[in-house]
Amino acid sequence: MKKPPVVDVMGLLVRMSYNGENVDEAGHYDRTTKCIVISEEEKGQRYVRTVLHELGHALLDRSGVHQAISEELEEVIVEVYSNFLAETFKMDFL
Ligand SMILES: [Zn+2]
Repeated sequence: MKKPPVVDVMGLLVRMSYNGENVDEAGHYDRTTKCIVISEEEKGQRYVRTVLHELGHALLDRSGVHQAISEELEEVIVEVYSNFLAETFKMDFL
């Protein structure tokens, strides 16, 4: 699967790390460092959905939307949208 080291999110360059060891989450987006870490445990469709989910956080950060909504609502939005993208476009090319 494709694993780009950097993803351009509307001009925000987000560094990607795919070998997160001992992370207690499937993935994480750090708003301060603009980095995404994906657990090395994530494979196949789980990997795709996790990458899309974390990129959703980066997109809401870049757009400023995250400042206007709660953390709980942000989680719902990025989860719904990442599942929609993964299921609609069969994004197994990631
Ligand atoms: Zn999340």
